[in-house]
Amino acid sequence: MDKKLIDESKKYLMNTYNRAPIVLRKGRGMKVWDTTGKEYLDFVGGIAVNCLGHCHPKVVIALQKQVQRLIHVSNLYHIEPQIKLAKLLVENSFADKAFFCNSGAEAVEGAIKLARKYSKDHFTSSKYEIITAYGSFHGRTLAALTATGQEKFQKGFEPLVPGFKYVPFNDIDALKNAITDRTCAILLEPIQGEGGIRIPSADYLIQVRKLCDDNKSLLILDEIQTGMGRTGRLFAYEHFNIEPDIMTLAKGLAGGFPIGALLAKDTVAAVFQPGTHASTFGGNPLGCAASLATLETLLEDGFLLDHCRRIGKYFKDSLEKLKKDFPSYIADVRGLGLLLGIELTKAGEPIVESCAGRGILINCTSGNVLRFTPPLIVTEKEIEHLIDTLEDIFGR
Ligand SMILES: *Cc1c(COP(=O)(O)O)cnc(C)c1O
Repeated sequence: MDKKLIDESKKYLMNTYNRAPIVLRKGRGMKVWDTTGKEYLDFVGGIAVNCLGHCHPKVVIALQKQVQRLIHVSNLYHIEPQIKLAKLLVENSFADKAFFCNSGAEAVEGAIKLARKYSKDHFTSSKYEIITAYGSFHGRTLAALTATGQEKFQKGFEPLVPGFKYVPFNDIDALKNAITDRTCAILLEPIQGEGGIRIPSADYLIQVRKLCDDNKSLLILDEIQTGMGRTGRLFAYEHFNIEPDIMTLAKGLAGGFPIGALLAKDTVAAVFQPGTHASTFGGNPLGCAASLATLETLLEDGFLLDHCRRIGKYFKDSLEKLKKDFPSYIADVRGLGLLLGIELTKAGEPIVESCAGRGILINCTSGNVLRFTPPLIVTEKEIEHLIDTLEDIFGR
């Protein structure tokens, strides 16, 4: 343990995270190393961010080339990699237009603004309400925090932003009761990530889509965690036979480099005009170059998405088997592709610590859900090693 550095971390940084006593210095593929030289297998992947693994050569080279050419110019000018990235995202999604920002929360803020403005421009000024789900997570800025249907994140930061309503996730009747002609949008994660890897029933999103259409409300999907191949499709909505009107992306979008994006259909995107929304750093050359390299790599021959579906199934089957062997520890196994979770019957944090001690990084969300979001390049052997380690920990 690097005590000196960790003490300084506590001294100089705001105490917003319960950090593990590990200082990571280097990463390659599935592996990271700390400042003492200890090696870890990384099943966190920067929380579903490092989708191609650490320091993927294509991303590294794209960043190196771009950093020498041009780092920042602002959106007062056209930016080459930004245009290429928008084109590739549009060609591979439901959307016609993209807007780039720098983080997930910022993308959600943009989506909320876009939906409100669309409804005000096309309908009435009282059509501004947004319905979101309990257990959701949409980010930490004030409107994103208000959209997040979990009190524990909102406590202490009131007054929240007006115009939000919450319903239980995966309960279509609750949504039918909540929707009114004041509803401008329904904002959902296709699979709740932070809320404990919760997957809706097969037809839920189809019914939500229909409800939105009938009520002239927009469907905003927050794919910040589920997007970029994480579930075995480029975007999770592809599993559910629907398309959103607006989608938010961030996390894996640039394979580790910070970026956020807002995608929308033309009719919706058209309400953003010069002066209505902006970001100084949004869509900067570096982030877009990293994202372009990431997206190109993800789409190459569909190899990685194939692998994600296959290995994700293997991983989930292995977790199911673990559940059979340790029924008193594991209450449920959930997920799709490489967005997987096991709900424990007890707190997850001690298991996370034991795994770190044994050289494996995993994450715990919602108190008792172990969340696995490894790079999409994870192998069977690495998954076996994790399962053996969990067996060993549960067995003690
Ligand atoms: C992580 C996450 C966010 C917030 O992203 P930040 O980049 O941390 O602001 C929003 N929505 C979902 C679904 C997320 O998983």
